[in-house]
Amino acid sequence: MHAETLFISDLHLSAARPKTTRRFLSFLKGRALGAGRLYILGDLFDAYIGDDDNASPNREIKTALRRLVDLGTAVFFLHGNRDFLVGEGFCRETGVCLLGDYAIIDLYGESALITHGDLLCTDDILYQEARIRVRADAWKRNALAKPLLVRQWYARWYRFKSGLDKGKKNREIMDANPQAVIETLREFGVSILLHGHTHRPAVHELNVDGKPARRFVLAEWKDTGQVLCWGGKGEWVSEIID
Ligand code: MN
Repeated sequence: MHAETLFISDLHLSAARPKTTRRFLSFLKGRALGAGRLYILGDLFDAYIGDDDNASPNREIKTALRRLVDLGTAVFFLHGNRDFLVGEGFCRETGVCLLGDYAIIDLYGESALITHGDLLCTDDILYQEARIRVRADAWKRNALAKPLLVRQWYARWYRFKSGLDKGKKNREIMDANPQAVIETLREFGVSILLHGHTHRPAVHELNVDGKPARRFVLAEWKDTGQVLCWGGKGEWVSEIID
């Protein structure tokens, strides 16, 4: 396995951000071609109300993902807090493999843990409580049983409300809790953690029980995109997607 492994996160694709959608579609048709694996670490969509929503840009995105998978790149996705309703239908259509909240992957001989990152923000207690509520199977079933139009209205209201809430919360509680990071690395027995969600791109050098560890935080796709590329010799580089 020599082909490189790519990581992206937090594209927040929506009809309101056509530039980011175009950037992502050209990434799938260009830069991502020939990569061995592409990992999407959640919040690919800014709002996702069910696999039956084929409004633009969902249709184009699904078609482009399908094409990349058919051309030989394995694509993996894990849920973000905005697109946790991505389901089996999406996976069937695109060939993308859906992972759980945490996944351990092989990075050319080294084990790495990937996650969206919201679970690490343990100081945001209200969010964590809401998360448990909406991730319950019964809640999701009930939400997906509503007519598409109702879900569209709900998504609009939710985005509006979430924008208001964000302004009210202080910045600290919306970051990963350092202790939760250490405990997670210890629990999974890995020294590499990759996630997004916080929109605070960085490479953090850590120490877990006397051993060095690294936490890679991916950037949100806003004015440009970011892709973290891992090569077959364990070397990595962060690229800007313009
Ligand atoms: Mn997120």
